[in-house]
Amino acid sequence: MPSSASYSILTFTLQFSPSLRFLLKTHIKYRPRSLNSLIMSSASRSSPRQAESNGTRCGGAITLEEWQGWGCVSPVPVMVNSVIKDLKLLENNIDAQMVFGGNGGKLQGDFKVQEDKKHRAKYETLGDSDKKFQFFSARQIACRLLGSRGYLCQKCWLPMEDCMCSKVKPCSLWHGIRFWLYMHPKDFLRQNNTGKLLWQVFGVQSATLCLYGISEDEELMWNAFKDAGKDKVWCLYPNQNTIPKTVQDAFNHQSSADMKCAYSSTNRDRPLNFVLIDGTWSNSAAMFRRLKEQAKLVLGEEDLPCISLATGASAMHKLRPQPSWDRTCTAAAAIGVLSELQLLPECSIHGLDKQADAVEDALVVLLEALTTRRLRMGRSITRKVRHSRDIC
Ligand SMILES: [Zn+2]
Repeated sequence: MPSSASYSILTFTLQFSPSLRFLLKTHIKYRPRSLNSLIMSSASRSSPRQAESNGTRCGGAITLEEWQGWGCVSPVPVMVNSVIKDLKLLENNIDAQMVFGGNGGKLQGDFKVQEDKKHRAKYETLGDSDKKFQFFSARQIACRLLGSRGYLCQKCWLPMEDCMCSKVKPCSLWHGIRFWLYMHPKDFLRQNNTGKLLWQVFGVQSATLCLYGISEDEELMWNAFKDAGKDKVWCLYPNQNTIPKTVQDAFNHQSSADMKCAYSSTNRDRPLNFVLIDGTWSNSAAMFRRLKEQAKLVLGEEDLPCISLATGASAMHKLRPQPSWDRTCTAAAAIGVLSELQLLPECSIHGLDKQADAVEDALVVLLEALTTRRLRMGRSITRKVRHSRDIC
């Protein structure tokens, strides 16, 4: 593994027309959901609940239909179902029911005590660190699935009584772009996650979920990147090691003809792939490291090309005065990408501004749903909540 010193990331900012360059005075570093993401989490807590066994059909195992119902596109992960099987076995053996609480996915009570011992023992038996990591991810996903079954709406990940699906308007994303939500298991099925809005609006083929550490998901994503070619894969991640490059500096590293060709591609099979890291800021460094390692393995790329949003507040597409949101949230990052691409002459005909608007509308709907829920549950709306600095 290369030393951290060699992790110099090539950062591109998108090319703007000369007349717009004066607007780009502020360089906003997109940081995967950095600050302020914890407040609304208290709004969504509910009483502890028992896992629904999904009828008796398959002893609680996740079917393909259920798995894909939650927004996933991969086959059901083998390891997730294996964890569920072990949980069910334990439930039978110790005669204690699985109880989940918090925001779903957190085991509670006697069962938790027993399960802790059991999963730690299993973890120790796993040989290499990658297996341990995959087990960690699968266990998180399995617990979130069992804790959310019958409680959350599968599409919007909100409690059924707060389902916002009827208010989200779908929109087609230009076929030259595909988003990938590279999501940490802890963010899977989180009510205040905003990455989910992208496939709610654009559909799972245009905005695809890839769960960190779930090999079925990661394989699917990297196969798509192999097909697309390495010049068509970009990760939206701030380059911490170097001063952000100017537009001119950045494009000295890449033929602008290539860029133009990439942006104006009309080949449906080879869209530009943008990876959005959907996890807390503290988790995102490890997620990015894994992306880089896989880029090296799969694409033979020493450096995963990264993009930084160069959009200042004034150049950001028209922000509505109310409500506003934390512009570091995942959906807002996608809005930033679309808005900056829209400014490229070769991209201006694809209606990316309208597609950015559609995501913005969905963000507003999510904020309203979370706020309504909070009010109904008798919690005050703090200033921070009004400004929606709690969605991620
Ligand atoms: Zn819903």
